[in-house]
Amino acid sequence: MATAEKWTAHWKHLYDEVVTSGLCTGCAGCVVACPYDVLSYDDREGVYKPFHIDEELGPGNCGHGEKGCTYCTRACPRFRAWEPEIDHFLFGRARQPDEVEGISKDIVLLKAADPEVAEKGQDGGLVSAILIWAMEHGYIDAALVSYLEGDGTSWKAIPGVAKTREEILAAAGSRYTYSANTLAYEKAIADGASKLALVGMSCQSSVPPVMLERKAGKPSKRFALNIGLLCSKTFDDAIFKELFEAKYGLKKEDMKKMNIKGVFQIWMKNGDYHEVNLKECHAWTREGCKMCPDFAAEHADISTGGIGAYNDWTLTIVRTPIGREVIVKMLQDGSLIGRPGDDDPGAIALLRKLSRVSRKRWPETAVDAPRLMPPPKPKPDTEKPAEPAPA
Ligand SMILES: Cc1cc2nc3c(=O)[nH]c(=O)nc-3n(C[C@H](O)[C@H](O)[C@H](O)COP(=O)(O)OP(=O)(O)OC[C@H]3O[C@@H](n4cnc5c(N)ncnc54)[C@H](O)[C@@H]3O)c2cc1C
Ligand code: SF4
Ligand code: SF4
Repeated sequence: MATAEKWTAHWKHLYDEVVTSGLCTGCAGCVVACPYDVLSYDDREGVYKPFHIDEELGPGNCGHGEKGCTYCTRACPRFRAWEPEIDHFLFGRARQPDEVEGISKDIVLLKAADPEVAEKGQDGGLVSAILIWAMEHGYIDAALVSYLEGDGTSWKAIPGVAKTREEILAAAGSRYTYSANTLAYEKAIADGASKLALVGMSCQSSVPPVMLERKAGKPSKRFALNIGLLCSKTFDDAIFKELFEAKYGLKKEDMKKMNIKGVFQIWMKNGDYHEVNLKECHAWTREGCKMCPDFAAEHADISTGGIGAYNDWTLTIVRTPIGREVIVKMLQDGSLIGRPGDDDPGAIALLRKLSRVSRKRWPETAVDAPRLMPPPKPKPDTEKPAEPAPA
């Protein structure tokens, strides 16, 4: 019988193959898993990357790794064959090429029944409703979410811990710059929590299952619920100054809310509303997003998005048994209002289209799996039929 190959890859391999190759999303899984605290995280504008703080062997190597520590590579959801490994772990099989949005059980439209939660949420308030419900029903005792720094006027998104309904609602809504919510892990544990929900973009929602599958130490056992946000990209913080303010005179301190629905929508505190063409925003795409193949948070228990015809509903992809259990119980006790995903076929078509677009970004120099999808359908022949020959 073949024996499993010993896992020896460490920071040196992660540094070469992911951190400096363009594959690194900045999800911070490696930082959270490092038991020696020699990895830190640079969340300055335009960086959002892990780095080694002990420079004894240079930034690209690690003394603990040389002695056998492998936790960082085990926790990295972009290292080597991450996608089929996590698929097998979560679903018992690898994704088929036509499952471009990942393996799922149900696709539905949901919204919070509580009007305050629905109103404060970005789309249907589903994510916040799940966190409140899961906390009240003992599934979790804290959630790793994203807040705005200080009084909110800097629009700098930062990771944080929510342990009450008020804290969950203070974190509701979407910010379109990066927030590595995984980094709130340490604070949550220090505060005494042991059953965590992670809310994070697609890249982050592959962290809990990859940690568990590759046995990345204590943190891997603490994630009880994994909620993903559909995501095609995040923007550099510089977009506020260099585009919104410089070109449109929109100062971040005067902004109230933002959303992306085909265009970048911005609501101002004085009641004004503005739209910015997304093509103009592309130049501020965050570096870590440029090779990301996962639009649909394919390894979350529940993936959530705002695409589709109905602005106040959350498009919801239920993927795992725990995800289904939570959604079914919430529908049964009236915490959620639901309708079939088929009510909005355009949303599902767009989900698949955007998933394809993201998969095309995965480079040919890395393993094949995340790029696999069916060949595009041939375009209808638009050429005019030949004129019949004159009689
Ligand atoms: C950067 C980003 C890009 C997105 N892109 C798309 C997209 O292309 N298509 C699509 O359909 N949906 C996208 N979404 C998801 C969508 O905006 C909503 O988050 C989702 O529909 C859930 O809505 P809700 O009302 O249920 O969530 P809410 O109840 O409002 O809860 C949202 C949760 O997300 C957390 N959060 C907010 N901003 C961030 C952030 N920057 N980083 C990490 N966590 C954050 C909050 O802390 C909160 O817990 C994106 C979200 C983000 C944050
Ligand atoms: S993708 Fe995430 S886990 Fe992997 S190196 Fe980058 S920050 Fe670390
Ligand atoms: S596109 Fe979204 S999911 Fe992908 S790396 Fe960027 S933030 Fe993460």
